[in-house]
Amino acid sequence: MEIFFLGVGEACDTAHGNSSSLITASNGARILLDCGFSVPHQYFRTVEQPDALDCIWISHFHGDHFLGLPLLFLRLWQLGRTRPLAIVGQKGIDLKVRAALELAYPTFEKKLSFTFEFHRLHAQETISLAGMTWSAALTQHSQYNLGLRLEDGLTKFYYSGDGRAGKHARELIRGCDFVVHESFSMIDTYPYHGSVNSTLQLADELEIGQVALVHLDHEVRRNELETVKKMVNARPNTLLPVAEDCVRF
Ligand SMILES: [Zn+2]
Ligand SMILES: [Zn+2]
Repeated sequence: MEIFFLGVGEACDTAHGNSSSLITASNGARILLDCGFSVPHQYFRTVEQPDALDCIWISHFHGDHFLGLPLLFLRLWQLGRTRPLAIVGQKGIDLKVRAALELAYPTFEKKLSFTFEFHRLHAQETISLAGMTWSAALTQHSQYNLGLRLEDGLTKFYYSGDGRAGKHARELIRGCDFVVHESFSMIDTYPYHGSVNSTLQLADELEIGQVALVHLDHEVRRNELETVKKMVNARPNTLLPVAEDCVRF
């Protein structure tokens, strides 16, 4: 697989964009992981072909993870997309996505040149889609958030969305070749967020290949970036990516 980071920040990070990335699986399938406020502009700076995207995964319904969708759809329509677009997420994904589009651009869905194909994924469930296996687990976040494990037969990948990894999320993370995990504070401070420390601990305990730390509090980046960089650089296979970084694994 390949991962291209579109953004690595939290909701209010003006320098790093909302956390989102683009996965290309070994069979060529392309999956957008979350689509917050800042993501469409970054996405279309990278991808011009309207039919290139196969699936969108939405981890939860905080704005920095899904309110970029109306603009994404608008631009895909402008560019002439015709292929149906698969959108995968928790219960209510269809209603939330349609409501967001209706608020941003009323009656626009009728004009779209492509259709949505919604797929629901529940916690502790596994489905097959786009030639891959998709498994989800609930994390500890202030809103219902699903961590996602993707397997394409060659590699295993995990994306946390927001929240700390509990028992089930840890089971999905174990043995993955590449893990992207939110790391909001330096140490576990908020009950509904992970931290730099706890993400590094996960990497030590769960036989992870590589781990990328994203969604750092912008205050942490501003005040403690050098400390975080030292912690990351002192370890093998640990990344603090920025937008437009690309990793093959
Ligand atoms: Zn977030
Ligand atoms: Zn959130």
